[in-house]
Amino acid sequence: MAPRAFDLIVLGAGPAGASAAVEARRLGLSVALVDKARFPRDKLCGGGVTGRAQAALAGVFGALPRDLFHDVRHVRLMAGARVIGDHPDAPVLAMTMRRAFDAELVGRALAAGAADFTGRRAALELPAVAMTLGDGTGLTARALIGADGVNSAVAKALFGRAFDPKEIGFALETEVPGPPEAAAELDLAAAAWGYGWAFPKAGGTTVGVGGVAGRNADLRPAMEAYLARHGGAGLKVKGHHLPFGDARPDPARGAVLLAGDAAGFVDPLTGEGIGWAVTSGQLAAQAVAAALAEGRPEGAGPRYLAATAHLRGELARARRLRALVYHPWLRARCIDLLARDMRLQRRFLALLAGEMDYADLRPARVLRHLARMVLRA
Ligand SMILES: Cc1cc2nc3c(=O)[nH]c(=O)nc-3n(C[C@H](O)[C@H](O)[C@H](O)COP(=O)(O)OP(=O)(O)OC[C@H]3O[C@@H](n4cnc5c(N)ncnc54)[C@H](O)[C@@H]3O)c2cc1C
Repeated sequence: MAPRAFDLIVLGAGPAGASAAVEARRLGLSVALVDKARFPRDKLCGGGVTGRAQAALAGVFGALPRDLFHDVRHVRLMAGARVIGDHPDAPVLAMTMRRAFDAELVGRALAAGAADFTGRRAALELPAVAMTLGDGTGLTARALIGADGVNSAVAKALFGRAFDPKEIGFALETEVPGPPEAAAELDLAAAAWGYGWAFPKAGGTTVGVGGVAGRNADLRPAMEAYLARHGGAGLKVKGHHLPFGDARPDPARGAVLLAGDAAGFVDPLTGEGIGWAVTSGQLAAQAVAAALAEGRPEGAGPRYLAATAHLRGELARARRLRALVYHPWLRARCIDLLARDMRLQRRFLALLAGEMDYADLRPARVLRHLARMVLRA
């Protein structure tokens, strides 16, 4: 059978892929949306949707059903058993279960007219944009967006491997059933080069611990201790990589673009990736649409690199800050500094809420502050 031809194939239908598909349809492209999973499907994730992510989602999907989210205003910052900040009136963090959330986004993409190739594995053929699905269906397109997550087959095809598994993050997580905890909690001392989280949802609390994989030989003892503090001792946990701190400087080659986790677009300090997945999926679709309109599909890559400059700059700034605040020599001092300085805590919460960027943190001032701390030490 002749392959089916599209303007664009989107491989991966998580937040990045669904956003790319919706935006590409809005811009008039024919789109094939491919995912090995059928939705609804589970995805290990804290499901914390920050203010920045909410704004990105609204820009692509418009209003989403409010029952997808459990809104939390109360945020507590911890360092082990020590409370370093309690904020009953923090900017709202919306908590979601990825199973329902991702299914809603995929549903929106299909309703917008993307052709449904979910529930099928794909064998990729590059540099020609073509693939054969598990059921034998052939697909071709003028451009491809690889939104296929941390183990991206598209990134492997382009660069030999997706990421260095030691450089990126690894996290353990589970759901503690029962009434949700009243506050969302971040434990800044739960893991090396990472942290712990307890995020209340409608049916319980998602509890996890994550950090840079190469800096945490075994996260299990940290997870067991953290879980016990949240009433989940003995619960089965699952693990998953997240590409935080290893964003690709070159997430595109010609008409093949990477978005979301496949490009490493996860905040290196907080591990937040949903918002950047949505934004990068949208920008990737816009770059493809503009390049196809010019009749030069290979122009999509350079356009995308230009369009993601701010995003990549933010991740680079966060990575530089992480090198300081997570450094073993400085970590305890940074936590003490944060515990003493309510203004700094509010800035951190504003950053999570998307009310400010890393660029607004005035990096030179932060560096001077930290240098003084080192000298005093
Ligand atoms: C434990 C943990 C906690 C996290 N907590 C948060 C949080 O609280 N807030 C936040 O913002 N971010 C969080 N993140 C990060 C967030 O989950 C990711 O950044 C986000 O899911 C990225 O979206 P994506 O669409 O790029 O990739 P994904 O959501 O991973 O979607 C990729 C899709 O591609 C499909 N796929 C993969 N390979 C193939 C293939 N070969 N063929 C076809 N389909 C394929 C998969 O089935 C999947 O549906 C967390 C991550 C982890 C691991």
